[in-house]
Amino acid sequence: MHILVTNDDSITAPGLLALAQALRPLGEVSVLAPDRNWSASGHVKTLDRPLRVRPATLADGTAALSTDGAPSDCVALALLGLLDTPVDLVVSGINPWANLGHDVTYSGTVTAAMEAAIGGLPGIAVSLNTPPGHQGQRDYGPAAEMAARVARRVIRYGLPKNTLLSVNVPYLPLEEIRGFHVTRQGLRVYRDELVRRTDPHGRPYYWIGGEFPDGVPDDGTDFGALAQGYVSVTPLHLDLTAYAAMEALKDWEF
Ligand code: MN
Repeated sequence: MHILVTNDDSITAPGLLALAQALRPLGEVSVLAPDRNWSASGHVKTLDRPLRVRPATLADGTAALSTDGAPSDCVALALLGLLDTPVDLVVSGINPWANLGHDVTYSGTVTAAMEAAIGGLPGIAVSLNTPPGHQGQRDYGPAAEMAARVARRVIRYGLPKNTLLSVNVPYLPLEEIRGFHVTRQGLRVYRDELVRRTDPHGRPYYWIGGEFPDGVPDDGTDFGALAQGYVSVTPLHLDLTAYAAMEALKDWEF
């Protein structure tokens, strides 16, 4: 079992180290991660410049690789033959913030797992639901343990074709996590605001600012599971077709 571990927060992120360490009992772990933060970069395929790969060392002294590409580039590089042995499973994370509802379309963490699915491999994205306003060092231990439990089951049962898992772990001590819920994507409520300022040359510039996003904790959703202290396991597939809308469109008489 050869597991590729990557993330969107960079090779130095503590969540990456915690994930790599937790997965080592399951097989051979290779780490290939971006050399900078790609959070909220969406699904990237770098085609307009070469990609560099450099040796790196994780904080526990183990060998790793970093690239100047995006998280999905890391997975593509590995699956296209950069590594000496074929990859069997891709696990991405641990992202320091949850990836819930619409977040999955922005998340570099999730798109790394999507790239695995495109390449025909099982992919798991792991995110920690850190509360808003959290300061200081996070404890990734419980999320890493939960990631290993999910990975064991993916190794045993496999995943359907074109399917990945988005796993979100509540920010709780291990003994307070109540278990796992299989969920659907819930409704993210963004509170974005356009902030307009003026640069020293008198030209306007813009930030997309605003408050930390919210969500609707309906039963059966990712938000609902986390609100009740459960790990949320959401299966995602790459087919974004709105099947219900197809019928209505057929009456449009194109
Ligand atoms: Mn991130």
